[in-house]
Amino acid sequence: MIEISSNIENIVYLFSASLFIIGLKRLASPNTARNGNRLASLGMLIAIVLTILKYTDNNIEWIIIGIFIGGLLGIVLSKYVQMTAIPQLVAIFNGFGGGASALVAIYEILYPRETITSIFVLGAIAFSTALGSMTLTGSSIAFGKLQGIVPTRPILFPLRNYLNFLLLILIVFFVIVMTIPNFSSLNILYILIVLSLLAGILIVIPIGGADMPVIIALLNSYSGIAGAGAGFVLNNPVLIISGSLVGASGLILTRIMTKAMNRSLANVIFGGLGSEDGSKQTTTNENKLVKSLNTEDAAMILMYAESVIFVPGYGLAVAQAQHQINELANILKNKGADIKYAIHPVAGRMPGHMNVLLAEANIPYNELKDLDEINSEFDSTDVAVVVGANDVTNPSARTDPNSPIYGMPILNVDKAKSVIVLKRSMASGFAGIENELFFLDKTSILFGDAKDSIEGITREIKNLDNI
Ligand code: NDP
Repeated sequence: MIEISSNIENIVYLFSASLFIIGLKRLASPNTARNGNRLASLGMLIAIVLTILKYTDNNIEWIIIGIFIGGLLGIVLSKYVQMTAIPQLVAIFNGFGGGASALVAIYEILYPRETITSIFVLGAIAFSTALGSMTLTGSSIAFGKLQGIVPTRPILFPLRNYLNFLLLILIVFFVIVMTIPNFSSLNILYILIVLSLLAGILIVIPIGGADMPVIIALLNSYSGIAGAGAGFVLNNPVLIISGSLVGASGLILTRIMTKAMNRSLANVIFGGLGSEDGSKQTTTNENKLVKSLNTEDAAMILMYAESVIFVPGYGLAVAQAQHQINELANILKNKGADIKYAIHPVAGRMPGHMNVLLAEANIPYNELKDLDEINSEFDSTDVAVVVGANDVTNPSARTDPNSPIYGMPILNVDKAKSVIVLKRSMASGFAGIENELFFLDKTSILFGDAKDSIEGITREIKNLDNI
């Protein structure tokens, strides 16, 4: 432990917090996101080093072992986790964050440094314990659903909303009880932990399929708020600020997600809507015909197009075709075509999934257009090329009140003059439903892995150019 005055401590913590804020701001654009991430990591490193220097007088070896194990896990995960598995990684990280905050709060009750009499601190402890425990189990269930360990479909048990409501009332009651100073019964703490762990499971289990992104963003926010609560418990300003930043950004993201799906948060949490079983369902309607085409036909169509909108979806991430799209787009641009990319906020399996992939291939950021910007342009576009997208292009969201995605704003791909869809089969997307777009007269499907298909189209264009 090193003697550091509280003034210096606060200045260093403030500096760390400023790095978090600047880092967060820079995350808003793919061009600056890497740098933003580095700045925020540096802020975290500074805060950790200061905390260890100032507050650790014994057990330093345990801290070093913890840092070593955590660091090693982080390196292994960042190297080997597939891009498509990032959402479940985020989910489990949220869970760990919530669990860590709950442990900090529980430790303060079990081994108080001094008798805690402040109602405020007792309240922060109870609040962090409850929210952190709920986040831990809720995120674990979300992880299980996205990983396919727990069924993706909503698991609906009778009276679930009443039971969940009762659980929440009980949790609030025990949080209030815990704020009574000198209340010695640890049993209250244990009851609160059990109720909160249970609530996390029961709240997330009825949520399914297409609603998972919203709940992950919400749990992300919870983990931040629980962290801020732990900051109040420890009287640590940098934890309060960083927890609040995560809490607020998670809430903003939740709002963006619900807006993108045209759902209210209450509807997501209590609605029990979602897919029957993720993307594995095949919903080919044998009575309807689809038109297929080969790479040469697709090349011919694209060569003469003056305007092309690429519509990437989850299949782009599976195929890892971002570099191939860029190459094809550059060839078309050289032929004078106007190229744009239509980005739906919930395309892929995590917020910003498509932006990250396309930025990796150095696709100019100004060609990426979000839903509101691009939707009015489809009807004047020659060809829309759907690269592994499905749900986000499904017109039934506009027309079929019985569709599970009814009301979700979609990309108006069906309004383009012609549509080429790249996918491997007639399998449905995440919501497990048929897509009318594939059966339209103007739509042709190029079956196959998107990367192979785009490489094939590019090859054909080059061949045709040489004739
Ligand atoms: P979808 O899941 O609706 O569809 C993906 C399509 O990609 C499938 O039709 C699949 O068809 C095709 N595909 C898969 N692999 C390949 C490949 N290698 N080559 C070519 N095509 C391939 O994706 P969308 O992006 O349209 O929609 C996202 C869905 O995921 C929404 O329902 C959203 O709510 C949900 N979601 C979004 C999250 C987010 O934060 N963005 C998080 C969790 C869920 P086929 O198998 O025939 O090839």
